[in-house]
Amino acid sequence: MFVVAKGGEPLMPCHPARARELLESGRAVVARRVPFTIRLKDRSREDSTVTGVQLRIDPGSKATGIAVTDGRELLGPRGLTALACRGLITIELRHRGQQIHRGMMRRAGYRRRRRSANLRHRAPRHKNRTRPSGWLPPSLRHRIDSTMSLVTKLCRYAPVLEIHVEQVAFDTSVVAGVGESGSSEGWEATYTGSEVRAFLLAKWNGSCAYCDATEVPLDIEHVRPRRYGGSDRVSNLVLACAPCNQLKGTRRIEDFLNDQPSRLEKVIAQLRRPLQDIAVMNATRHQLVETLSTIGVPVHPWSGGHTRWNRAAMGLPKSHTIDALATGLLDHDRDSIARIPAQVLVVTSTGRGSYARTTPDRFGFPRLRRPRSKIHHGYATGDLVEAVVPRGKWAGRWVGRIAVRASGQHRVTTLTSRFDVSHRHLRMLQRADGYGYGFAPEIRLSAGREAAYSGRTLKGGDPGNVRTPDA
Ligand SMILES: [Zn+2]
Repeated sequence: MFVVAKGGEPLMPCHPARARELLESGRAVVARRVPFTIRLKDRSREDSTVTGVQLRIDPGSKATGIAVTDGRELLGPRGLTALACRGLITIELRHRGQQIHRGMMRRAGYRRRRRSANLRHRAPRHKNRTRPSGWLPPSLRHRIDSTMSLVTKLCRYAPVLEIHVEQVAFDTSVVAGVGESGSSEGWEATYTGSEVRAFLLAKWNGSCAYCDATEVPLDIEHVRPRRYGGSDRVSNLVLACAPCNQLKGTRRIEDFLNDQPSRLEKVIAQLRRPLQDIAVMNATRHQLVETLSTIGVPVHPWSGGHTRWNRAAMGLPKSHTIDALATGLLDHDRDSIARIPAQVLVVTSTGRGSYARTTPDRFGFPRLRRPRSKIHHGYATGDLVEAVVPRGKWAGRWVGRIAVRASGQHRVTTLTSRFDVSHRHLRMLQRADGYGYGFAPEIRLSAGREAAYSGRTLKGGDPGNVRTPDA
């Protein structure tokens, strides 16, 4: 739970049990519902010990994992100081790039119709528009904006000292050197291996090169078999699913794909794509790191292969939040990831509704007129409220997100139910900010790990019945 001082400056986050204690004794008040933040009434920043926390970010296309950690020095093996990286709070930020893309395409469709519906001749317009440097399509721009918005918020509630972020999928210098100087050994081999895998995943789009299968285990396959002099360099490697890998065996690719000439051509073209060409694919992440460095906190960029290597050394499964926890420098002999929160705060980008006040049908003709104002009887769609229903089927106290109506009969959605209630029975807890909040369990850790990590979890606080909207 985040803690801020009397004056609003961030202090070290505390355990939910401690937060409950402080709230019950009247020493603290709730400053914000999600992410749950308390404000101490009797303590200023000067009277407190603030050692600082790290923010670890794993940017993804559909969801970004964010972890708030503190590093605690322990006495490690052989008397050396080891670092225990403790996960305090983990957040999964779900983006809405797809929705934005669909919306833009729909709008383009309406405009195209308007243009062709006008039968007057128009000379074709030249492609004379320029875009400012660093321009990104709105669906990608949104990824950076929503990540920045959340990170800025976290920097307000937690004393962030440094930010670790995954900037590139793989380390170009490592991948370029593969297969040149004999075989490496020990940690070097596993590190190189994870960078190469990250590179191949980016190059082959995470799917089998021979049948396009995704969501299956993929093996690294030598296109020109080693027994025919094929090298270990990345230009000779593809990803293949187990059936394809078995089927190909040690045959040459020309024999294996001789009945699919178009695929053979495609695979060979992709094999020859230069390394740099694949490395620059991700412009969004580069811009994210650039934008993050404007916050004024040191930003450390890492590669995806490095994260994978860390995660494998700690024996952890893959999830957005665990990847975020594993981002950064870890000495695998001494350091450890000492705690993984059992619950993940899921932040879903919902947007703030549409600007258009007319809902069109699928041909772009007006279908519904919406009211000019988005606020009705003091509430807007997306507000987090407490409803105290005096009588009827839904009598009782509820906490949930509302959708407003002009009539004042707003719809409340809680974790388990959905009903209409008059605005008179509502109390505002937190204004809508364009995000839906909810909780989800961290993916199941393997049996041994679970026992080790389940001792202290970040459950509790008072999340209420906050629900992630389906839309
Ligand atoms: Zn396959």
